[in-house]
Amino acid sequence: MNSIVTFPNRIPVTDFEERRFKVYTDRQLDKIEAIQTLPEDTLFEMKVVASVLPFRVNEYVINELINWDKVPDDPIYQLVFPQRGMLKDEHFERMARLHREGADKQTIQAAAREIREALNPHPAGQMAMNIPELDGEKLNGLQHKYRETVLFFPAQGQTCHSYCTFCFRWAQFVGDKELKMASTEAEKLHRYLREHTEVTDLLVTGGDPMVMKTHNLVQYLEPLLAPEYDHIQTIRIGTKALTFWPYRFVTDNDADELIELLTRLVDAGKHVAIMAHYNHWQEMSTDIAEEAIRRIRATGAEIRAQGPLIRHVNDHPEAWARLWKKQVQLGIIPYYMFVERDTGAKNYFEVPLARAYEIYREAMKQVSGLGRTARGPSMSAGPGKVEVQGITEIHGEKVFVLRFLQGRNPDWVQRPFFAKYSETATWLHELEPAFGEDKFFFEDEYEQMRKGNG
Ligand SMILES: *Cc1c(COP(=O)(O)O)cnc(C)c1O
Ligand code: SF4
Repeated sequence: MNSIVTFPNRIPVTDFEERRFKVYTDRQLDKIEAIQTLPEDTLFEMKVVASVLPFRVNEYVINELINWDKVPDDPIYQLVFPQRGMLKDEHFERMARLHREGADKQTIQAAAREIREALNPHPAGQMAMNIPELDGEKLNGLQHKYRETVLFFPAQGQTCHSYCTFCFRWAQFVGDKELKMASTEAEKLHRYLREHTEVTDLLVTGGDPMVMKTHNLVQYLEPLLAPEYDHIQTIRIGTKALTFWPYRFVTDNDADELIELLTRLVDAGKHVAIMAHYNHWQEMSTDIAEEAIRRIRATGAEIRAQGPLIRHVNDHPEAWARLWKKQVQLGIIPYYMFVERDTGAKNYFEVPLARAYEIYREAMKQVSGLGRTARGPSMSAGPGKVEVQGITEIHGEKVFVLRFLQGRNPDWVQRPFFAKYSETATWLHELEPAFGEDKFFFEDEYEQMRKGNG
């Protein structure tokens, strides 16, 4: 197959100039011109927080996505730049003291490791419970939690073009080897998929798989066109590159190859879905971002959008309504609104479930049916994805109406269940069953599953 035949309508790439990818990490904070006008205290705070939580931002995000007139309230600034409030006072003070004293790198790193350990680096039992086996051997780059979908973490995709300050995968980025969950071999992935014909969806994730060179993606995905993978109907790729580096799809030197790969997968009969992580409409405000979306859609791949609700970034209905409207306009399908996970800088970002539901509902009211495809607010918790469906009163008791969108046991899915209403709860484990019951319907079975997995 060749690209001229399979991809006839593309606008010549020369319409967009190539951009050099330039990235800054915590050691290069003083090289970022845009922040040098911020108060000195702010810069020091950034440095302190960035020595514990991942920090990485590229020049495109700094110069094209952030509205510097609005800093510190700009949502994209909050999305990528570390803030004082992301660490608890005790943790912040401890790290700040080390920096003030000019402590050496090793001392700072040792303290950072201890602080990270206190931040629930692996929420929802990710390390222990979801890692599948092949001939008794653990497959570290795979997760298989829900029957029909396998998650694959390619080793070359365990970073991102920038980091989100609220990332729940943050533990994978900060260099602690034992916290990483990366795979090395395509061969193991393929064997696992061949043996598991109940799997219909492969979800390639990270980090961000789009930081990989196209030839790596080809190596993982092209073999799936062989007949023994016919049960793999859908190939999803989770990415934030449409936000952080849309040049990946347009002008990078293997952008065309990538577009051709997507086209080949679609033409061979796979459903290809780019699972785009979006938090704010501002991420789609540049010409290059729109062009990347256009090029992907021209391959026949779908783009579905998902992202967490984050305080300081998108915690009001207007932000979500405008996000969903913009997505629909650009041909993107809104998919999930997530609740921020119970990990990392959660204190800074969390939004109570009651408020999350209100934001969701108020935003839904403002969009047409095509914008109402996003489900949520949804918690990706240990037992499954749990959606807050509503708040109501039953026999005089105010309750949350909940349901599983995904469950460790597929039989849990779509069953309504009820929790006592709470103004402040932010996560499933803070909820109590309604109507005086002492357990949720799934709890005993989930406990059994946890024990079974050690
Ligand atoms: C969300 C998720 C999936 C995909 O679930 P869908 O509802 O099919 O989008 C698969 N595995 C894990 C671990 C997930 O969290
Ligand atoms: S793009 Fe995704 S994986 Fe990367 S930092 Fe953001 S949330 Fe984390």
